[in-house]
Amino acid sequence: MIAKKTLKLSLKSLRDFAKKRLPDQELIELDARDECPLEVVRDMCGPKKLGLQLLFIPEEFGGFGGGAFDVYCVCEEMARIDLGVATSVLATFLGSDPITVGATPEQKKVWLTRIAEEGILFAYGATEPEAGSDLGALLSTAERVTQDGRVVGYKINGAKQWISNGGIADAYTVLANTPSGPSWFIVEKGTPGFSHDEPEDKHGIRTSNTAALSLSDVYVDADRLVGGVEGQGLNQAQAVFGYTRLMVAAFGLGAGWAALDRAIPYSAKRIQGGSPLSQKQGYTHKLIVPNVARLEAGRAYIEETAERIDAGEGSLNTEGAIAKYMATEAGNLAADASIQALGGYGYTHEYMVEKVKRDVRITTIYEGTSEIMEMTISRDRWQFHLKTRGQHYHEQARQFETMHARHPSVGAEVAALALHALAEVMEKARLGRLTRYQHILLRLGELVSYAECAGSLSRRAALLAEGRLNEKANQRFDATELAAIARIFAREAALKVAEDGLRWVTAAGGVSAAEMADFEAALGLGAIHRAQAGLISDMDYLADVLYGRAAKRVALSA
Ligand SMILES: Cc1cc2nc3c(=O)[nH]c(=O)nc-3n(C[C@H](O)[C@H](O)[C@H](O)COP(=O)(O)OP(=O)(O)OC[C@H]3O[C@@H](n4cnc5c(N)ncnc54)[C@H](O)[C@@H]3O)c2cc1C
Repeated sequence: MIAKKTLKLSLKSLRDFAKKRLPDQELIELDARDECPLEVVRDMCGPKKLGLQLLFIPEEFGGFGGGAFDVYCVCEEMARIDLGVATSVLATFLGSDPITVGATPEQKKVWLTRIAEEGILFAYGATEPEAGSDLGALLSTAERVTQDGRVVGYKINGAKQWISNGGIADAYTVLANTPSGPSWFIVEKGTPGFSHDEPEDKHGIRTSNTAALSLSDVYVDADRLVGGVEGQGLNQAQAVFGYTRLMVAAFGLGAGWAALDRAIPYSAKRIQGGSPLSQKQGYTHKLIVPNVARLEAGRAYIEETAERIDAGEGSLNTEGAIAKYMATEAGNLAADASIQALGGYGYTHEYMVEKVKRDVRITTIYEGTSEIMEMTISRDRWQFHLKTRGQHYHEQARQFETMHARHPSVGAEVAALALHALAEVMEKARLGRLTRYQHILLRLGELVSYAECAGSLSRRAALLAEGRLNEKANQRFDATELAAIARIFAREAALKVAEDGLRWVTAAGGVSAAEMADFEAALGLGAIHRAQAGLISDMDYLADVLYGRAAKRVALSA
């Protein structure tokens, strides 16, 4: 783990570097030219310049040994600057992950030291033209090359699609099928038979190089098989999913905030109908406030998951999926709303929000699409529901009811309503065997995410009130402000879980007309509707906080 002071310094250096090397005008031009600023990327990952790569390399190989929390902080900051450049840096993180988790000590020493000391760029080659979400369908092969009955190397054939840094990396981790199953290989650029296509002409992250790879009888020595044992590739990829999904979650969060942080000052100055847009409730409460609440719900879940990964609780793949799902969907919504918030100006390149919107779009696609996240989340939590005979979420809800007694203002009692409703929806789905409908299964993934994030945000607000939040945690909001955000999001989550849950269970024939009233009561719909009381005044308060009017408001009412 990195010391707080070192992390703060690194984040400041990153901001200073970006101010000098990636000002808005430069980014707009790079985006228009569809160009990856290779020199900037090399300087960001270079030992003599910014040295960002050192953050995630273990100390024994010359890095700082940053944990999941550190990497989240850096990823959010990078995304606030430019998601394309951030993706280039991320590709080295991702490309070296199979090595970090699965390589032999000798392989780690060679490759992680080279990343730390030379700043070599990596790419992560998993996806293929016919194998995207379903990586198990990969067709690339690695054929053993033997000498005197001993495996001395492999001959790799195949094609890889959409590889970040594909055209600029110095080394690649490539997933290919050996006779014993999928395995990672390290392939250096320039290896005979290994080539890449022209960069893809993309919708967004145009400052990131994305290219297809082609491998035609590419020979590598046996010591390029990561871990030295065939067939470990999918396990090695799985082992870091929680962690890597957190990075992309942080991208969604950072990009979403980058857009809102342009919309907020814009609307404070833009006069329409005789007063600034920021003073119009119909504007702030649609375009700004709910997006802040959703992003901060995503942040709460990211921070909690990062802390748990750093505490050694395992790879937390499902939690990583929830964090990614919530933060990237929220980032997309926030960026879209920011275009609307700037009106016609938002629709032009100059004001940047349309670029952020195009850029952030990738975050719900790469490192697992939102639909795959929904499926992962739902399948995992479905098992919890079955194993506890339906009590898993009721039990969680009771913990939030207890929290409410100590912290009555953090929305814990409303988060509890969301969790109770979720348990009821899942139980009805079990009784009606509704998860045989894939759509119901995936919608449950969404509802789980909302309910768990509501709980997480309430807990974060309570911890902040107690002064027990992680010392590296984002401190944009104080305890009173975060409590208001938690109340706003908990209301949205409870309503969504109960009403969408009712809708889909009914749609799939899981509740008869005669049972409907009892089901509605079990969902707590009445209580959830009553909990919406006070929402407008919380939103008013949050708008005042965001526009720097909160102190004045308190003073006036005192
Ligand atoms: C700019 C960019 C950079 C990338 N960088 C990398 C990289 O560095 N390394 C790498 O290995 N890959 C990379 N990728 C690939 C990325 O991870 C894949 O695009 C992604 O996993 C989705 O795979 P796919 O494109 O084949 O879509 P598909 O898997 O074909 O999915 C298409 C649609 O169908 C949905 N879908 C798929 N399966 C199901 C199902 N079972 N049930 C319901 N819906 C389903 C998906 O959610 C999606 O909406 C990158 C992609 C892009 C665009």
